[in-house]
Amino acid sequence: MIPSDLPPDFIPFNRPHLAGPELEYIRQAVASGKLSGNGMFTQRCQQFFEQQYGIPKVLLTTSGTDALEMAALLLNLQPGDEVLVPSYTFTSTANAFVLRGARIVFADSLPDHPNLDIGLLEALITPRTRVIVPVHYGGQPCDMVALLALARRYKLWVVEDAAQAIEARFLNRPLGTFGHLAAFSFHETKNLSAGEGGMLAINDPELATRAEIIWEKGTNRAAFARGEAARYEWVDIGSSFLPSELNAAYLWAQIEARAIIQKQRQQLWETYAREFAPLAAAGALRLLPILPNSQPNWHLFALLCNSEAERDALLAYLRQEHILAVFHYLPLHRSPYYMPQHDGRLLPHADRFGQVIVRLPLYHDLQPKQQQRVIEATRTFYKA
Ligand SMILES: *Cc1c(COP(=O)(O)O)cnc(C)c1O
Repeated sequence: MIPSDLPPDFIPFNRPHLAGPELEYIRQAVASGKLSGNGMFTQRCQQFFEQQYGIPKVLLTTSGTDALEMAALLLNLQPGDEVLVPSYTFTSTANAFVLRGARIVFADSLPDHPNLDIGLLEALITPRTRVIVPVHYGGQPCDMVALLALARRYKLWVVEDAAQAIEARFLNRPLGTFGHLAAFSFHETKNLSAGEGGMLAINDPELATRAEIIWEKGTNRAAFARGEAARYEWVDIGSSFLPSELNAAYLWAQIEARAIIQKQRQQLWETYAREFAPLAAAGALRLLPILPNSQPNWHLFALLCNSEAERDALLAYLRQEHILAVFHYLPLHRSPYYMPQHDGRLLPHADRFGQVIVRLPLYHDLQPKQQQRVIEATRTFYKA
């Protein structure tokens, strides 16, 4: 829909936020004479997260999806290898491994939260299992202590899908620093954005050298540029996973503004939580819990309706009030692509979240009056 088609009081689900210096940094990138990947702004972003989070190596990517695909390449997955993935997630969590020929074994969510139910995983492990991919839904942590203990016992790789989890913590440690690898996203809808963008965290230092090669089309260009290789040549498989400096320049401005961005999201999130608490206490709807040992990043605010029909009716009512709320994730084990390959196990919690979750508008420039309209419209719907 083009903007002029929208009613003037329309509240979108998301809007990109300009922290301030984005356009100036893009100008600087142009003036530097280098717009292709791995320039000044890319390196600044990477070094920031390496230092701030204590990650041995960080590589910016063109998307969170690409970071997941790099992870699958790095782990040398072979056809027939099995990967444990929650069914209630975005397609890329599974698709990145399907591209390597792996078989996805879908696992169910916790009863009260979309995150993986770690207690169900051991029964799904076979001699072919290679990787577990926990998704930190809404920036809320999976229990990484339990998950890493399980992975160690069975010698499995752990790739965190931290696409929604930038700046979120578990036991006071940043999400994305627990697994061997972790994928972050800087898509327009995430807390920090480059329009499209992502980042691979390489927490296992033994994977770092090869990661850089896969990132640069299978060449040793990054090492060559540092003077560490005598010749620039093709040394392994790879693809083009580097973002342009234009994206990295935009992202740098967002990284600098992260404290303000996070504080604003927290305020919006807490306002929703406070205003909907009475409806939740009365049993009209439910809210997602803050999980144990979590310092959340306020990525999304979700309401849980009582049924799919009620969810659809709420979305339609909000739409009529010129508010765009959305639902998401049709469970992947029921997707047209994967259902024929799914082993038939029931995943009731993933199914239910696919039917009842509503995401409300939550973005930096959502005005207090607009947020009150969202809250009032939802209340009116539940009164009726
Ligand atoms: C956004 C998201 C992705 C994909 O990130 P892109 O940058 O859009 O490719 C993957 N997994 C989850 C859970 C996400 O929310």
